[in-house]
Amino acid sequence: MNLSLKEFRAYRGRDGKPAVRGIAVGYCVRGDAWDDPHDRQLGIGKHTHAHSHVSKDDGQYRGWICVREFENLGRKHRVSGTLMHELAHVITGHGHDDVWRRAMTRLGQVVGPAWQKRSRGAQA
Ligand SMILES: [Zn+2]
Ligand SMILES: [Zn+2]
Repeated sequence: MNLSLKEFRAYRGRDGKPAVRGIAVGYCVRGDAWDDPHDRQLGIGKHTHAHSHVSKDDGQYRGWICVREFENLGRKHRVSGTLMHELAHVITGHGHDDVWRRAMTRLGQVVGPAWQKRSRGAQA
């Protein structure tokens, strides 16, 4: 089960503070055009629905999640699988590696075939 919006907002990172600092809808908070790949590790590209800013280079935007459409946020009182995926990036600071997969499991998420080891599928 995905987190409720309230739980998602309150979810704490390793520093004990709420992990997600903000969500941008329809644009990238860093000001980059959505289709400009600016983070190869996270594979931001034109086919993704969302990405998150997790590195030191992201500065003030570290902990932000950007989604393409309002529909990517979720429905009713549950956040979307997309946001749960990005939360796992935000709390770990990792790309699609074992650390991230363990966080996904802790969050009760199924890691789909595109995100299993050795996959070279599209990333988000
Ligand atoms: Zn962004
Ligand atoms: Zn991802």
